[in-house]
Amino acid sequence: MTDFPERLATAIENRREALISLTQDLIRIPTLNPPGQNYRAICSYLAERLGTAGFEVEMIRAEGAPADSTEYPRWNIIARREGAAPGDCVHFNSHHDVVEVGHGWTVDPFGGEVKDGRVYGRGACDMKGGLATSIIAAEAFIEVCPDFHGAIEISATADEESGGFGGVAYLAEKGYFNPERVQHVIIPEPLNKDRICLGHRGVWWAEIETKGRIAHGSMPFLGDCAVRHMGAVLEEMEATLFPLLASKRTEMPVVPEGAKQSTLNINSIHGGEPVQPEDYTGLPSPCVPDRCKITIDRRFLMEEDLKEVKAEVTALLERVKAERPKFEYEIHDLFEVQPSMADREAPVVKTVAAAIEKVLAKQPDYVVSPGTYDQKHIDRIGKLKNCIAYGPGILDLAHQPDEWVGIQDMIDSANVMALTLAELLTQGDSAN
Ligand SMILES: [Zn+2]
Repeated sequence: MTDFPERLATAIENRREALISLTQDLIRIPTLNPPGQNYRAICSYLAERLGTAGFEVEMIRAEGAPADSTEYPRWNIIARREGAAPGDCVHFNSHHDVVEVGHGWTVDPFGGEVKDGRVYGRGACDMKGGLATSIIAAEAFIEVCPDFHGAIEISATADEESGGFGGVAYLAEKGYFNPERVQHVIIPEPLNKDRICLGHRGVWWAEIETKGRIAHGSMPFLGDCAVRHMGAVLEEMEATLFPLLASKRTEMPVVPEGAKQSTLNINSIHGGEPVQPEDYTGLPSPCVPDRCKITIDRRFLMEEDLKEVKAEVTALLERVKAERPKFEYEIHDLFEVQPSMADREAPVVKTVAAAIEKVLAKQPDYVVSPGTYDQKHIDRIGKLKNCIAYGPGILDLAHQPDEWVGIQDMIDSANVMALTLAELLTQGDSAN
């Protein structure tokens, strides 16, 4: 079977129009998150499509997951196609939700317009184009190699943009992602067609609150200003924490370059009286603020330990406390994710790398994402380390106005995916 690449390429080229219309159809179902619209509609559409292609389809609602409600149920779909003999299962996981539209569009965000070799729309690159590409790749592979060994799974899952708890996390808890059922996972996020994304940095979100005492604003000395306490915290961060974070470099191939170190974002700050609506015409009343809160978003590296990451911040608050009489604080954890990174020698990494070389005649770049995506749940809950993100689309276009995905990029990626299936599911007889 030395002509696999050519036969797969022909089968994919024959589906060029189908790939475009599938991408358009998916874009035309606005699956905005929040609130989580049309999840059932997109899963039903895919159930029909994949059922026709010979997949066994399961629709799964993440009942009781965060944000799941009667009005906005969190629907997911998993489709599985068994081969002619036992073997490994290759799973393509895409999220079907998209982020808000925002301003600045020159095309209909849900129109699926095609021009200049691109399909436009919210979700075109992140990641309905990738989902469509994986479906076309699987269909082409099955046509060329109907007697394959093992199984192919394609899932479309909810809520990746808001943490994945009603999607991949839920399915992993239910056993859909585990090393007995699935052996190789490819997440077609828009990482560019010649790059393999091995994983992502870790995350810790927390809320820090400083406390004071309310009093009349004309006699602040009778109160204790929580905002000034927070000012001292921020000063200490500038003086000691930010330089410390900048000094921590990772061996992980994180892109862009600036994310190769530990980072911290102060997501919000609020102290004192609540903010009034914009049309409110009254004046504030004179009070010393007794509470001030910030939310921090700390991204950490493989080389760091989450306990130490937290201890750095506690130590900083203790230093401030030592210098300020009456300084009191509270710190609350909001969210945490461990870093995840597949081994470069993992089977799915090596196979996709070889396929990229064949299709694009170049060595792949290996990257790690600065932010997280559903790989976290597949790794931590599913215990599946043999997992990467690989898909068409330019990462920078994600969440932007006039988002698009290139049609040739999808075709090229479909070739990489189909060749990967050929390598993993035909007992090596495609090796040439
Ligand atoms: Zn995405």
